[in-house]
Amino acid sequence: HERVFSGVQPTGNLHLGNYLGAIKRFVELQDRFECLYCVVDLHAITVWQDPAELKKSIREVAAAFLAAGVDGTKHIVFNQSQVSAHAELAWIFNCVARLGWLNRMTQFKEKAGKDRENASVGLYAYPNLMAADILAYRATHVPVGEDQKQHLELARDIAQKFNNDFSKSIADLGLAEKFFPQPEPLIAGPATRVMSLRDGARKMSKSEPSDASRINLTDDADQIAAKIRKAKTDPLPLPETVEEMKTRPEADNLIGIYAALADSDAAAVIAQFGGQQFSQFKQALVDLTVSKLAPITAEMKRLVADPGHIDQVLGSGAERAEAIAGETMNHVKDIVGFVRR
Ligand code: ATP
Ligand code: MG
Repeated sequence: HERVFSGVQPTGNLHLGNYLGAIKRFVELQDRFECLYCVVDLHAITVWQDPAELKKSIREVAAAFLAAGVDGTKHIVFNQSQVSAHAELAWIFNCVARLGWLNRMTQFKEKAGKDRENASVGLYAYPNLMAADILAYRATHVPVGEDQKQHLELARDIAQKFNNDFSKSIADLGLAEKFFPQPEPLIAGPATRVMSLRDGARKMSKSEPSDASRINLTDDADQIAAKIRKAKTDPLPLPETVEEMKTRPEADNLIGIYAALADSDAAAVIAQFGGQQFSQFKQALVDLTVSKLAPITAEMKRLVADPGHIDQVLGSGAERAEAIAGETMNHVKDIVGFVRR
């Protein structure tokens, strides 16, 4: 059974990278798969979140899903903390995953920074919770940005180790040998890693202090235009081959953004704009970005003005999610050897 799971953290400042790397792809997958899209609030609190801001951000991420075209009726939109299976399964995975595996995770190193002793235990165990998110639904496909590739590999390792460690118990219960599937990352298209507009070597991120580094999904047309005009580039005209893009990170980034927004690819964008000055291309990019984001921004605004409706979508999603995850958890408890009610 093919099933999609993915999540976005309610950590504020949803940006173009989140849209192109994740949310836009969520929409595209709805015709082909049964999909669960989750506002991962348990993940968010691995770093400090102001409670009132968190609540606002949860509804804002849900609104972004819906505004972009996710169908919360046909598919499942919910927030993680409403379904207790995520935290329960994460604990079991804390006991399956090895310290050595987590020690290799680059996101922890980046987010913990120099003051590692002071990072939360949750930030360290984050990848185990992410494995639980996916495997609670025995999801087979996970659309994410490039930055999540390593965490997906860990989820696959956890699934495999669980299946191996408990193979006898799984067989005794008459369950499928591969109780947890190997979830496949869906990382594709021209914008799997959207970079900062100020620094072609850093990913566009919610937590980056400089607002000029990212296009927020709440930015208006003037803000978008100003940020794209000021975006860092090299002094040369636009590359004329895809090969040339590899050595020009800022050009590569802007061309990738254009291609993703236009549902095209880098080669086609270069065929159109290669050799032109950046000032010309940037104007085209402003027009395209505004035309694609403005309707989403407007719809998000409309939706967040009615939190009752969003809460109802989240609640109904959580009920349906719980039905699937609860069944997995009953099996998992039997497999591990717990006594159930
Ligand atoms: P934070 O800094 O709080 O981690 P974030 O911008 O990385 O925020 P997440 O909520 O962690 O956002 O990620 C949500 C989804 O967006 C994930 O699938 C992630 O891979 C994707 N994503 C995040 N940043 C980018 C980016 N710059 N380009 C493409 N995809 C991205
Ligand atoms: Mg992130």
